[in-house]
Amino acid sequence: TFAQLVQAQKMEAVGRLASGGAHDFGNVLSVAGGYVRRGLHSGGEAQMRESLVGIDSAVSRANLLTRRLLSLVRQEEGVEEWFDPGEALTALIPMIRQLMGPDVRVEVTLNENLPSIFFDRMQFDLMILNVVANADHAMPDGGCFSLRARRNGSRLVLDLADTGAGMEDDVLAHLFEPFFTTKPRGQGSGLGLSVVRDLLQRAGGTVSAESSARIGTTISMRFADDLAEVSEARAESC
Ligand code: ADP
Repeated sequence: TFAQLVQAQKMEAVGRLASGGAHDFGNVLSVAGGYVRRGLHSGGEAQMRESLVGIDSAVSRANLLTRRLLSLVRQEEGVEEWFDPGEALTALIPMIRQLMGPDVRVEVTLNENLPSIFFDRMQFDLMILNVVANADHAMPDGGCFSLRARRNGSRLVLDLADTGAGMEDDVLAHLFEPFFTTKPRGQGSGLGLSVVRDLLQRAGGTVSAESSARIGTTISMRFADDLAEVSEARAESC
């Protein structure tokens, strides 16, 4: 099922990050070890001091890595980082194709010069896959799903469009509400798009929908612009 796929994909991402983290951790330890050896063999106080400063910064980095890994495992807060959305979306294409029915054409357009975003990678993937799952559900007889990434000023915008069933206005009006679903019991939680909205809002972005019954739906995600994110990240660190 989709839920299992998303879960599997999440676990895969956790594994990927954890092994990357272990690797980074190993690097930090060897750097610290190098400073310790230098300190032990140092002749003067200045050199000793320099080694201690190096060890101190390696220890801080190790602390940060540990916290990141722990919060990943506990799945509490997101672990935001700057990344290239084009690269993240390219990595998702096989997953998107796999989730879509066999008669759905998938088109991905990545415009030039996309701004980097400051976001949790797994939550980013999850948002995209939530919208993909809805699009697939709306196109039981096939159709076209297109994902376009573009820059609007300094913002990243993603438009995810399907040529599926679309929605009547009374559905559209409640789309982003938690637990709102038109799917039969057991098939929909009504959480997909509310999660997308919450995650984006928390990161200073927005999501909107346009839809016409029997024509299709476009979900647009607007991410925070670079400058706002940088100042927010700074505010958080002090
Ligand atoms: P769920 O998919 O579990 O129902 P969502 O929050 O993802 O929860 O979606 C809520 C409702 O919005 C869906 O039940 C469906 O009626 C409608 N919807 C969402 N995406 C689409 C789409 N691409 N095409 C048509 N209807 C959609």
